[in-house]
Amino acid sequence: MTEMVDFLMVGGGLASAQAARSIREVGAPGRVVIISAEAELPYNRPPLSKGYLQGKEARESIVVKDQPFWDEHQVEIISGRVATGLNRAARAVTLDDGRVFTYGKLLLATGSEPRKLNVPGGSLAGVHYLRTVADSTAIREAASKAKKAVIVGGGFIGAEVAASLDVGGLDVTLLIGDDLLLGRQLGAAAAAYLMSYFKPKGLNLVTKAQATEFTGSGQVAGVRLQDGRDFEADLVVAGVGVTPRTALAEAAGLPIDNGVVVDAQLRTSDPDIYAAGDIANFPDERYGRRFRIEHWDHAKASGKTAGLNMAGQARPFDHLHYFFSDMFDLGLEAWGDMYRTDEVIERQASTREAGHPAWYYLNEGRVVAGAIVNGSKEERTAMQELLKAKPEATGDMRKELAEGKA
Ligand SMILES: Cc1cc2nc3c(=O)[nH]c(=O)nc-3n(C[C@H](O)[C@H](O)[C@H](O)COP(=O)(O)OP(=O)(O)OC[C@H]3O[C@@H](n4cnc5c(N)ncnc54)[C@H](O)[C@@H]3O)c2cc1C
Repeated sequence: MTEMVDFLMVGGGLASAQAARSIREVGAPGRVVIISAEAELPYNRPPLSKGYLQGKEARESIVVKDQPFWDEHQVEIISGRVATGLNRAARAVTLDDGRVFTYGKLLLATGSEPRKLNVPGGSLAGVHYLRTVADSTAIREAASKAKKAVIVGGGFIGAEVAASLDVGGLDVTLLIGDDLLLGRQLGAAAAAYLMSYFKPKGLNLVTKAQATEFTGSGQVAGVRLQDGRDFEADLVVAGVGVTPRTALAEAAGLPIDNGVVVDAQLRTSDPDIYAAGDIANFPDERYGRRFRIEHWDHAKASGKTAGLNMAGQARPFDHLHYFFSDMFDLGLEAWGDMYRTDEVIERQASTREAGHPAWYYLNEGRVVAGAIVNGSKEERTAMQELLKAKPEATGDMRKELAEGKA
């Protein structure tokens, strides 16, 4: 049976949810449907490695909006169903239960999936990855019975899960691939600060650690490193990056290049198909190049823009990139292009000691990104305003940034 839908979203994450909301907010008429592989309402993933994992946030509190909201806004959510085919000529999406939906406008927002470690012992019980609420629930349950956890990966997921399990009273070892926690994401200066923040918390931080085997029979008993070191574990969580889910778009012949390639209005090469969130590779005029971003705020903002454009607007996506992370009582926030920088100005020790360290990132003499820890409202606003302007870092400005006066 074929059903007609005016606005169809494939993927039941934040990007689709925001697109559906903005279509309704501008009063676009017609049927709006979200297809979600997970048997859940669209929800926020950040708590999965933080409050929800620690048992401090309830399942109901992480949803983007509850069922009455979607009912009231006439957004249909078909959950627990996978879109298996996209036929662009017929403007049709097929589901795994055989249903077919034709669309007026289609959004692809299929998100990411965790990269798996291809090592011996990878399928032992007790080895976990984290992407969904079901994954987080399983880790939470395993943690309630475990004593020793080994976390593989010194990126955001690894750092946050390590902090959450440490708060929960486990003996935690965090395996970091290179020298510094979050070194690739934040650069050496901010990462060195984070290492110094994590060290007194009592976790075992192991650098230059490449996991090559999960040991044990049936149930994981430890992690072996390339250099022969062994770490005991009855719970392992690996956070070693994600891959964008582009298979549906690729099979339909849409251009793929590190994600689904879209234009400034988040439209693919097919004018009736948009992409948003983790899978979208979009041009950014502010920085004069393309990005693919795997962050919550990006999913929210790009979903909103895609929805407005699907509803007939022609808005360029020009959102200032932003991400946040929470570890113990440290709240880290960053804006701008953290991905291509050649110099860092660090606030001087006096502001660091006051608990508000900040870093400004430069590219070819311009301030292109900034990160701050536990920033006040004023500090955060000032940083965003500065970064929107992307100013040239003159001598005076460098001095002000370093002294915390900018
Ligand atoms: C544990 C965790 C913690 C995070 N913490 C932070 C944080 O602190 N700060 C931050 O900025 N970002 C954070 N993120 C990243 C942020 O959550 C993601 O960038 C965001 O969820 C991306 O949204 P999305 O809608 O693009 O995709 P997703 O949230 O991945 O949603 C995509 C959905 O589409 C479904 N789907 C895929 N293919 C199909 C198909 N063919 N048919 C139907 N459905 C399909 C998937 O099952 C999934 O439900 C975190 C992510 C995780 C996993």
